[in-house]
Parts: sequence; structure tokens; C-alpha cells
Amino acid sequence: MSKAFEGKKVLITGGSKGIGKGIAQAFYSEGARVGILARSEEGLKAAKEEIGDIETYACDVTVDGERQNTFQRFIETFGGIDILVNNAGGSSGGKIADTSMEEFTKSMETNYFQAVHFSKMAYEQMRERGGAVINITSIFGKEAGGKATYNNAKAALISFTKAAGNEWIKDGVRVNSIAPGSILHPTGNWQKRIEENPEAMERFVEQNIPAGRFGNVEEVADAALFLASQEARWLVGTTLTADGGQSRMNI
Ligand code: NDP
Repeated sequence: MSKAFEGKKVLITGGSKGIGKGIAQAFYSEGARVGILARSEEGLKAAKEEIGDIETYACDVTVDGERQNTFQRFIETFGGIDILVNNAGGSSGGKIADTSMEEFTKSMETNYFQAVHFSKMAYEQMRERGGAVINITSIFGKEAGGKATYNNAKAALISFTKAAGNEWIKDGVRVNSIAPGSILHPTGNWQKRIEENPEAMERFVEQNIPAGRFGNVEEVADAALFLASQEARWLVGTTLTADGGQSRMNI
């Protein structure tokens, strides 16, 4: 039986750990040809050992030349791109008054500008035959709760998703995003916080996540498979919330 993404060419930024690795695994299991990028060679090697026959690229997404070079290498190896998942990102900073302008800029570089650049490069390839771009944002791009640096950058990425979605759909390129709630995985922030203070984290879950537990990477990966699929063909510029009910938005 043929698999849902047989032969599709998929690039996942930040694919060596956590959510990105889960997404890489999911596409690979569905028959896709997968490339992942991250900074640490060691992390890439471990991910490849775990997932299987994938391509890996050492790349810091905040460096313009490394983005261009890596994307070019991916295209040369794969002969094109069908699906781009902009997953790389991370949270930094603290209270606004205590956070330097450099930190605000760095957050935009890490979470936003690089995803815009990868999307633009992917669009140039996809505009002839269509494709899908999936941005991993956050519920904290939609509502208050996280650090301002992170919220700002994720809100910008949600806004970019809508703008690029509307602009590129005429060429068959669908751009959408997933806004995860709190996702637990071994190398992530929530795991660290559970180790530091398990009781506080139990209370956090009880008070904040109606489903009564953290989400897992497979649950975000399933949303990514859906957004990349034909079944989501009418979803354009939208942001899917995947959070066990955690976010507080009514509309
Ligand atoms: P992790 O920190 O566990 O993994 C991040 C991945 O991105 C790693 O592969 C890391 O590898 C890579 N990465 C980080 N910075 C860079 C960089 N500058 N250049 C290239 N690669 C980079 O994060 P999560 O899996 O938890 O999160 C993934 C995405 O999901 C992020 O965008 C995050 O904001 C978002 N998200 C996460 C939530 C959660 O609860 N976990 C909730 C909502 C959104 P390396 O360090 O080797 O570069």
C-alpha cells in the first residue's frame, strides 16, 4: 500500500529534537524523503540514527549565509521541495524592563526572520508545481502568557502565515501554521521544569490544560501531516491550535 507522502521532499528546520524530530519521524514513516537541519552535528547524528535514512544539515538559522547554503544543498540533493516545516525557534528573555533590545532582536532572528527567509526560498521552488509551508508558532503568539520577546516573534509568524498564505495560494502554495500549547518531550523546557519542581508543574497542568496533561510531539506531528495533506486543501493562511484546550481564546 502506498503511503500518504511517498516520495515527497520535506525540509524541517530544527528537526533534530523535540517537536521537529517528531515531525520528521512522522513524514518519514509516511514515505517522505526528509531533510532536517539544526546547529549541533551530534544532535543531527543522533536523530538520523533514530529516524532512518534522512539527510542532515548543520546550520544556524540565524545566519543568512548558512540558510542560503543549506537550502541550496537540500535542493541539489532532493531536486526540489514539496513541504517546508519552519519549526526552529526558542524562547529567551524575561520581563520587558529587564530585557535588552539585543534580546528582542535575537528572538525575532531566531523565531521569525529566518522562517520568512526559508519560506521565500521555498516559494521560489514551489511556485511552478505547488507545495506546502507549515510554520510552528505557539498559543503565545495569539494570547498573553509567555515572554514578550517570544510572543512578539510568534505573533509576527502567525501574521506572516496569513499574508503569505493569501499571496501564494494562486500558485498552489499553501501556507499554514500550528500553534501548540505546552508540549512535553525529553529535551524540552517543560521536562526541565518538571525535574525542578514536579508539584508546581502538576498544579500548572491542572489549572491550565483542560485535557489534564501535557501534549506530546506526535500530536503536533499529526497536525503537520494533516496541514500538508490534500485533505487540508482549503486551509490557507490559517493557524491550527493544538493544545488540549489550553488557550483561552473564544474566537
Ligand atoms: P527544542 O529546543 O527541543 O528543539 C529545537 C530544535 O531547533 C532543535 O533541533 C535545535 O537544535 C533547533 N534549533 C534551535 N535553534 C536553532 C538555530 N538557531 N539554528 C538551527 N536550529 C536551531 O524545541 P521544541 O521542540 O520544544 O520546539 C520546537 C518549536 O515549537 C519551536 O519553534 C518552539 O517555539 C515551538 N513550540 C514549542 C512548544 C513546547 O511546549 N515545546 C510550545 C509551542 C511552540 P540545535 O540546538 O542543535 O540547533
